[in-house]
Amino acid sequence: MPTIMNRRQASALLAAAPLAMTIAARAASPRRLLLRGANHLLTMTGAPRQKTDLLISDGRIEAIGPNLPVSEADVIDLSGHILLPGFVGTHWHMWNTAAPGLWRSAKGGFMPTMAAIAPHFTPADVAIGVDLALAEAVSSGITTVHNWAHNLRSPAHAEAEIAAMVRSGVRGRFAYGYAQDVGKDQPMDLEHLSAIARQPPSALVSIGICARGPDRSDAEVWQAEWDAARRLGLPISTHMASDPKAAAGGGIAALAARDGLGSDVQLVHLTSASRADMDRVATAGSPVSISPWTELEVGYGVPPIPDMITAGLLMGLSVDNMVLAGQANMFSVMRLSTDLARGVSRNQLLMEDNMALRWATTDGSRSLGLGKQVGALVRGMRADIIAIRLDALNTAPAADLPSLLTHAARPDNVSLVLIDGVVHKRDGRLVRIDLPAIQAQATASIKRIRSPSGI
Ligand SMILES: [Zn+2]
Repeated sequence: MPTIMNRRQASALLAAAPLAMTIAARAASPRRLLLRGANHLLTMTGAPRQKTDLLISDGRIEAIGPNLPVSEADVIDLSGHILLPGFVGTHWHMWNTAAPGLWRSAKGGFMPTMAAIAPHFTPADVAIGVDLALAEAVSSGITTVHNWAHNLRSPAHAEAEIAAMVRSGVRGRFAYGYAQDVGKDQPMDLEHLSAIARQPPSALVSIGICARGPDRSDAEVWQAEWDAARRLGLPISTHMASDPKAAAGGGIAALAARDGLGSDVQLVHLTSASRADMDRVATAGSPVSISPWTELEVGYGVPPIPDMITAGLLMGLSVDNMVLAGQANMFSVMRLSTDLARGVSRNQLLMEDNMALRWATTDGSRSLGLGKQVGALVRGMRADIIAIRLDALNTAPAADLPSLLTHAARPDNVSLVLIDGVVHKRDGRLVRIDLPAIQAQATASIKRIRSPSGI
């Protein structure tokens, strides 16, 4: 089992042994933490800073500058490192993380294989998928996630995924979805959605919805889901124009015509969207999430990144799922994004490396409505911070920081990860979870699911 307890367990323990718990909490999350002597610090809102300290107080960035005075703070020496904001993953189906590589079977490709295994997931199975996904997120420097839960087979499945997110201490949005095999004429469980939407699960985890939208559900269904989300004040996400057939259905125009776009409605993929549709999306202010690796892997096609840039869309990056992608590697996603943009446009200068960094940090956080909290290293913002080692074979010498981060660095170069000021990875090791236990549970889970699925 993960060593991190949920809020109910924490409250029970606190009531039973308040002194021990207080000491343990202080040890895990000191009130003040000084990150000392980083070689470079990328604020993502201004010029990089050199040889600087960063002071965190109560999970918030209190000061940035050289030689900050230390008093009553734990100190982490970060000489030989780059500091930057933690990455923001803007779309991720976590429930099937225990099935990496199982995208093809005797049933066919990705969709029929997922359809075969989906009915056999219990609440415990989807939760272990979330545990494993969040471990991989933290390990690779992703500090905010958007868990696109589209195999909710019962209220207990939703509650299990939310509990896993809360106990992880990772920042994110739980997007309430539907069961994989629900009919196009059936809405998601709006009654249960309304019950859990009454209050955020924690200070770090919020609620939204992930809907099938015009491309994958009947008009009266998606409209009912949009109406419910907006009545509850919840953000919406939907896959749109993923392939030519979906794009030909005119779903984006239908959304635009019925006030279904806006800053609260994230559109995922747009791989086959026309330039006219992208202009509609840009005008309405809907953020977009792309997952370039899985868009290639599932056969959607080459993401039209040059058109997305020239249309002025608010962009976020994503890993989508581990079944196809095999790894939650935001460095690799940034690299593929820039290189596809250059190759498709035949213009080496169309997309700077720094643009991919913005998509993975500031723009990603804005696209999830978190732009005032995370995505930049600025005084007053929450301390979601990662440190990259500069002494690895692939990270030295550090001649150009954006290029180093988008084309050379890898998850194993992530030395330190803080979320809300709490240390999740230190000296390259995950310090808040029992990873072998999670892996053992995930292995048992997918073994049990494969047998009745016939894959
Ligand atoms: Zn998706």
